[in-house]
Amino acid sequence: MSVEYNCILIRFGEIFLKGHNKKYFEDLLINNIKSALKPLKYTFLRSQGRYYIEDAADNSSEIVSRLTRVFGIHSVSPAVKVKTDEEELFKAAVAMSPMSGKFRVTVKRADKRLPFTSAEMAGKIGGALLKASLGKLKVDLYDFDFELNVDIRDNGFSYLFYDKIPGAGGLPVGCSGNGMLLLSGGIDSPVAGYLIAKRGVRINAVHFHSFPYTSELALQKVKDLAAKLARYTGGVKLFVVPFTDIQYAIHEKCPESFMITIMRRFMMRIAERLARREECGAIITGESLGQVASQTMQSMMVTNSVVSLPVYRPLIGFDKEEIIDISKKIDAFDISIRPYEDCCTVFLPKNPVIRPRIAEAVEYEKNLDVDALIDAAVENTVEEFITSK
Ligand code: ATP
Ligand code: MG
Repeated sequence: MSVEYNCILIRFGEIFLKGHNKKYFEDLLINNIKSALKPLKYTFLRSQGRYYIEDAADNSSEIVSRLTRVFGIHSVSPAVKVKTDEEELFKAAVAMSPMSGKFRVTVKRADKRLPFTSAEMAGKIGGALLKASLGKLKVDLYDFDFELNVDIRDNGFSYLFYDKIPGAGGLPVGCSGNGMLLLSGGIDSPVAGYLIAKRGVRINAVHFHSFPYTSELALQKVKDLAAKLARYTGGVKLFVVPFTDIQYAIHEKCPESFMITIMRRFMMRIAERLARREECGAIITGESLGQVASQTMQSMMVTNSVVSLPVYRPLIGFDKEEIIDISKKIDAFDISIRPYEDCCTVFLPKNPVIRPRIAEAVEYEKNLDVDALIDAAVENTVEEFITSK
């Protein structure tokens, strides 16, 4: 049977809404909800710890799916809204319920002034269903085919629903400030960006591109990944940095085994430069301990030592399978596995150093004009605001 829902109920996490910052967080969350729903038509209502979407007409399922990607939302339910009146409640319950099988009714009553308890009202609505089904429905509180939920709110209305669709959780994007994500075309870095955005960070991304060794399609892949992230973050400011000249210089002037280590140090320095310009409080990478030679403790210490901003590595303790699960969940996986070259596969050394020392890297970099190389790369960086598709 199809139910004529006329409302979408939005529940948000309570934890971050306590204390003095409540208004700030709520305003941010509402703002993020509204920008996620642009340009769809609907009415937004708020009352006492809940938000409601009405007049969504044909857009309901699109709205629900977009809402499940707004961080800070705990869950959403398509619902039937009626006046809090016994007859109205019975009528709606009968109209939206199957007329056979085992069921239970669960009532939650925010409005404590009403002259009945939740259990009493659940009994009455259950009674109305039993009567309407002419004996084909049976109440079973534990082993039921469907559960009809009724939220009686203190705005004079009640909301009847079946599903509680989990939201994205987390905190509203923006409440934790800005971050600069090193975004490659791989599986890990989009997941790292997603996890940090979930904690309220607005994501900027930097990608190092080795044209002509890496193609336009490789760059498109990164933009497509940024667009997937943008579905959760409301948009991603992407910086595409030309990296080929730096790679040439390292290749020419430094030992082959240090190619990746020194490349990473350049990436970090450039990321930091852009991060400071964009007022980001942290650099974010998709590194996971021990995954490859450049992600050993020693390697990460050597790459980390060139920057003073904190570097967040949300995947540090994750196995590849765990990362892939999240990548699939955010719909990035199929893009990440497109087979294009990444800049790190250009000039790939046969035997990368696994335990580099900072002093060695510093020594080899004396052969390079580090500042000039960075200045040129930053100067030729192209900026693009990526929105969700
Ligand atoms: P990913 O799936 O994110 O590419 P990976 O396992 O391939 O990860 P590496 O290539 O060693 O790992 O890169 C480690 C991290 O360095 C990436 O997660 C990303 O944050 C950053 N990185 C690597 N290549 C690039 C690039 N071309 N542009 C921007 N950041 C990069
Ligand atoms: Mg990579």
